[in-house]
Amino acid sequence: MIIVTQCGTPEVEIERIIEELRVYNGTVEKIIGKEKVVIGLVTDTSDINLQSIQQISPFIEQVFRVEQPFKRASLEYRYGEYSQVVVQTPNGAVTFGQNHPLVVVAGPCSVENEEMIVETAKVVKATGAQFLRGGAYKPRSSPYSFQGHGESALHLLAKAREVTGLGIITEVMDTADLDKVAAIADVLQIGARNMQNFSLLKKAGAIGKPILLKRGMSATIEEWLMAAEYILSTGNPNVILCERGIRSFDKKYTRNILDLSVVPVLRNLTHLPIMIDPSHGTGYSKFVPTMAKAAIAAGTDSLMIEVHPNPAKALSDGPQSLTPHGFIELMEEVKSLSQYFGRGHYSDLTTSSVISKNRLKING
Ligand code: PEP
Ligand code: MN
Repeated sequence: MIIVTQCGTPEVEIERIIEELRVYNGTVEKIIGKEKVVIGLVTDTSDINLQSIQQISPFIEQVFRVEQPFKRASLEYRYGEYSQVVVQTPNGAVTFGQNHPLVVVAGPCSVENEEMIVETAKVVKATGAQFLRGGAYKPRSSPYSFQGHGESALHLLAKAREVTGLGIITEVMDTADLDKVAAIADVLQIGARNMQNFSLLKKAGAIGKPILLKRGMSATIEEWLMAAEYILSTGNPNVILCERGIRSFDKKYTRNILDLSVVPVLRNLTHLPIMIDPSHGTGYSKFVPTMAKAAIAAGTDSLMIEVHPNPAKALSDGPQSLTPHGFIELMEEVKSLSQYFGRGHYSDLTTSSVISKNRLKING
């Protein structure tokens, strides 16, 4: 249930309303919007009379139920205001969200050795991207395939972070590794195969770090948002949704179907920031640039791109990885296209229409 207070409602009155709402045995959350404070009451509200809530205070402007099964993830929960996920990186704060510059996350599928991760990170940094990705723990279909170097790869990511100042995004597959991964990662990735691993969602959410939640390969949009709800219900508001392609009947020419229609659909349903991953989405490097650009046109908040110094020798996902040269070329187009769509880019701050002065330090 959403309780919307009038503009300028005194703080003491908001606190009083919150106290009164505690009798309903739910979670009460204060959401400070640009103009109004909205209070979310999450519990079974079917028996609660809207009038009785309205009568708690003359400052209450509106009371309504969130009809969607995902409550905190819904756009109504924030009274139509899109949320931001702000991540502190050594190079400065980076904000994921609508009306913010496009954020680019790039790097190899797996962290293979120090040289390749540090060299890739330097290329990623030079293009103006903000985050390095790379798997230490890999979810592979075959137990005989390379499983990732685990903990030692986390240290290599830390090294790449030290050298470039890029933020780090890496996957956590197992609750047992959460602390180790969270000690290095700026954003924890929960992969497609674990989207409905509810104990992982709850435990990762409780750590409090931003979470990148990939869409399960056969997950409906509602299942995906319900998975996000698990994280949000731990009190962690920092969730980014990543579309990475879904399974279809035709796998002959692409690995997955990259569902770009999720961008406008999610904008209607949720306040959470959106990322598109055309690398896993298509499975072939030659299709990645087209779909990355299409994702910008569709209005994504961020992109995830796999880049490898020698894709033919990659230990995982080589066929879909861009070479450094291919990535540099793509980033040139990404920059002009994101400007064309009024989106701006962190690395080209002077011409962007959407970047405020206080974010000019990012690449400093
Ligand atoms: C990855 O990002 O390398 C990965 C394994 O992704 P997904 O979970 O989308 O398959
Ligand atoms: Mn991969």
